[in-house]
Amino acid sequence: MRSVLLKRLCCAAFALLLPAALPAAADTAKGDWLLLPDRVWTADGDAAHNGWAVLVHEGAIAAVGPAASIVVPAGAHRVTLRGATLTPGLIDLHAHLFLHPYNETLWNDQVLKEPQDYRTLEAAKHARDTLLAGFTTLRDLGTEGAGYADVSVKHAIDEGLIPGPRLFVATRAIVATASYGPGPRGFRPDLDLPGGAQEVSGADAAMVAVREQAARGADWIKLYADYRVGPDGATAPTFTPAELKAIVDTAHLLGRPVAAHAASDAGVRMAVEAGVDSIEHGYGAGEATFRLMKQRGTAYQPTLTAVASTAEYFEHYRPGDAPTARMREAAQAFRIALGLGVLIGNGSDVGVFAHGANWREPAAMVADGMTPTQALHAATDVAARILRQQGRFGAIAPGLRADLAAFAGDPAAHIDDLAHPVFVMKDGVPYRTPDTQP
Ligand SMILES: [Zn+2]
Repeated sequence: MRSVLLKRLCCAAFALLLPAALPAAADTAKGDWLLLPDRVWTADGDAAHNGWAVLVHEGAIAAVGPAASIVVPAGAHRVTLRGATLTPGLIDLHAHLFLHPYNETLWNDQVLKEPQDYRTLEAAKHARDTLLAGFTTLRDLGTEGAGYADVSVKHAIDEGLIPGPRLFVATRAIVATASYGPGPRGFRPDLDLPGGAQEVSGADAAMVAVREQAARGADWIKLYADYRVGPDGATAPTFTPAELKAIVDTAHLLGRPVAAHAASDAGVRMAVEAGVDSIEHGYGAGEATFRLMKQRGTAYQPTLTAVASTAEYFEHYRPGDAPTARMREAAQAFRIALGLGVLIGNGSDVGVFAHGANWREPAAMVADGMTPTQALHAATDVAARILRQQGRFGAIAPGLRADLAAFAGDPAAHIDDLAHPVFVMKDGVPYRTPDTQP
């Protein structure tokens, strides 16, 4: 990351001359870039275009088309991406920068034992790994006990202090009292445990939590519509319809969309009926519920990789084995939604598995029935639409921010090629080039 370091030094030197700090956008020397991959996949349609090039000017895409048709300004930096396909920067709509794989440290132990300061440093490292993997935007759905630290990580990235993707953050997330970990199940009842999210009971308390989180920087409100609260720890709805409605209405009043964790059919249905904007997981949702989502335009993030990962950690599953019951359930829900034309966004639940391996989710969606181009759309223009950011990024078109990635091979034909990034640019700033592989 030599180039980023240099920029940081330049910026620091500049700051000495101009004590009133420059805005983040002026932080980096952007200039003109001509990108010359073997082919360009723009997200407009399904086909990749051989022999196309992309011109970047001052952080935005200035032109895209056949290389010969582009007028190149004098002094533009040329980057040849031999054997590679240029795509829009990828988007993961379900991330947890403050978690790391559970086979390294169990979730309970991360939340109970790792100091928030340490978790924030880890999050910075995870953000870097994510960006260098070609993911230029993340929706981070809850710090899992690390308070509002995601807002600070987002600011540090926006200011150029650390490399990372654009973040849309949810801060603490909202859960029903005593429904979410750590504990209380399995711990002695006189222990006062820190919460993995903000606990509320009643519509008024739910509204207070939304207002607090929004005021402290939440771009999205995340709620847990169901969790392991049923008898014997079975997944069951947590909030009453009135509580759900209070959260959704207050969030919408404040201009924040709502993402709902929901794994059971009843939990998904209640969340959708309350008006949430996206459903996370949805493993147990049935056809009637997905039809309702299709009707209402509710987005769905299948998080298939989280299921495969926890199967590896806790169910002795190995890649290539016959899928576990939970994996089959998730795949079936995904196929129903896909068949009905539900709006499916790429959301992996990364953090459960290693940051930077986000490509595994588009690959899992293809393994369970999507075409490679459907999966690419889910991770680019469709994801941008779910974020309500389609006018800023998510495709390669003149006027959009220059958030771009290139992968060796052709992911529009072989989705696993997303595992091999060779170029990453965000806002017109290159973070990874063939000459500066990290
Ligand atoms: Zn999650």
